[in-house]
Amino acid sequence: MQRKDDPVIAIDIGGTKFIAAVIEPGGRIISRQYCHTLADEGPARVIQRLVNSVHNIKNKARNQNIGRIAVAVAGTIDIRNGVVVESPNLPRWHNVRLGDILFNEFGIPVSLINDANAAALGEYELGKYAGVSNLIYLTVSTGIGGGIIINGNLYEGSSGCAGEIGHMIIDVDGPECKCGKKGCLEAFASGTAIARTAKDLLKRGRKSLLTQMTDGYIDAVTAEHVTRAARQGDIVACEAIRTAAHYLGIGLANVVNIFNPDVIVIGGGVSKMGNMILKPARIYMKKYAFKLPARDVKVIRSRLGTDAGLLGAACYVSHERS
Ligand SMILES: [Zn+2]
Repeated sequence: MQRKDDPVIAIDIGGTKFIAAVIEPGGRIISRQYCHTLADEGPARVIQRLVNSVHNIKNKARNQNIGRIAVAVAGTIDIRNGVVVESPNLPRWHNVRLGDILFNEFGIPVSLINDANAAALGEYELGKYAGVSNLIYLTVSTGIGGGIIINGNLYEGSSGCAGEIGHMIIDVDGPECKCGKKGCLEAFASGTAIARTAKDLLKRGRKSLLTQMTDGYIDAVTAEHVTRAARQGDIVACEAIRTAAHYLGIGLANVVNIFNPDVIVIGGGVSKMGNMILKPARIYMKKYAFKLPARDVKVIRSRLGTDAGLLGAACYVSHERS
């Protein structure tokens, strides 16, 4: 018999690691476990590691009656049937019935949710944003994901696929995106895009600390290198970040015009740059958006950080039980 105040097991599956945790209603994490995803090994092995991890934390929480399992995954999720349709972080995952697999193993109801949708819900419910009912969440890291809260509710769309803000097309003739289309926001403003812009500048012979940081191996430049170099005032690194900030500002302006949100929360690795990227992005957002919604919106860094997806997944199943 499940009760509303039973803890849940939440899992956030990333491309390099996954986290499984036992979480109480209200968001207190009782225990958590990190594991390498080793996504290249394919679905069967990854699922086996997930199952082992859930057994472990479930055993540790043996006095607790686990009410549900919630799994946050990047990509297209068929939330009604508990199917991972495809995921950019998980090669060869096509129509994997992860919900059924975990239910058969543990006999506990399982819910799947897109990780950025989960993070949006987590930020909204646990981020303590006073007076906010319309919140947009953007995770800017290797890719760009999004989640939409309207009037206090997660907006998932007809198929559960809403919120793909990273794939709004900014320039149809722009660079190729991982999704197969061209010129998506993600292809212009993600960590991958920042690294690409910096590499292009270096290949044109520009001098930069980035060359020393990577021992002259330009293709090894990452967004983290760019961040470090920019903190030291490197002109190429600052230019790469400013270019991304410009496009991020355009994306934010579109979001502001469509949703007129109270707040846009930015998470993901790139958000760790803080005002280095957010300040110019806000300026561009104000330049391109309509004045009234641009005046009223706040663009701020995530309060839950890397726990947003995990905590949001737990919030998601708490709703499903209530
Ligand atoms: Zn795309």
